[in-house]
Parts: sequence; structure tokens; C-alpha cells
Amino acid sequence: MTMDAFNALACPLDGEPLSQADTCWRCPAGHSFDVARQGYLHLLPVQNKRSLDPGDSKDMVAARRRFLNAGFYQPIAEAVGQAVTTSTANTKPLACLDAGCGEGYYLRQLAASNMDMALALVGVDISKWATLAAA
Ligand SMILES: [Zn+2]
Repeated sequence: MTMDAFNALACPLDGEPLSQADTCWRCPAGHSFDVARQGYLHLLPVQNKRSLDPGDSKDMVAARRRFLNAGFYQPIAEAVGQAVTTSTANTKPLACLDAGCGEGYYLRQLAASNMDMALALVGVDISKWATLAAA
């Protein structure tokens, strides 16, 4: 996966652009954010958290994953994937940001149905558990 399409990520502390350097992302002021070994990037500063465990809980993420894996939303995911790829046919790589990605269901569906297409996919979510599942 390439992150070149997402060079507009901003530092949550000062709003300056973030750029990737090996296993972390840095802003010009030196704020640094490590990429977790699971592949996600945590950009919510502790001082900005309004709860100890913001967003969906671990149990909520697991329940939604069971529901989605049962295929109830498969037709929706296919329609979304088709709409995205047909409306952006000349974009290489196809960059898709899923804001509030949950456990990454739609991004995974998009990737699975477009194996021959160059994709740059990023999902963001406030839930640590959802982000972990998506990564
Ligand atoms: Zn910064």
C-alpha cells in the first residue's frame, strides 16, 4: 500500500503537515507518531481524549464484525465499491479515505473487489478497538 496519496495528514498538535519517515510520522516541529506494529497510526493526543476508551468498545467492534461477516451488508459494500471505482477510473492510485472506518469492512471489500487496481486506502476511527481490527 502506498501512502503517497495521503500527504495531507496533519499533526494533531499544531496542524502542520505530517510526513512518513520509516516507522513513524513527523511534522516539521518534530512531533512524532509511531506506527503500531499492527500497522495503524494513533493521532489522538492524550490531552484531547474525553474518555479513557473513546468510540466503540471492544465488544461493540466484535459484535459489528460478526454482523458484517454474516454478509448482511455485502450488497451495500459491493455497490459502494462499484460506485467508487467507476467514478474514479482515471485516478492512479485510487485514494480512498474512510472516515469512521470501524473495523475496516468497507475498505477490505473495496480492496478485495479491485485486486488489479492501485489503491491507497486509509481508514480513521476514534475507537482504538476498531482501528486495531481494521489494521
Ligand atoms: Zn506537530
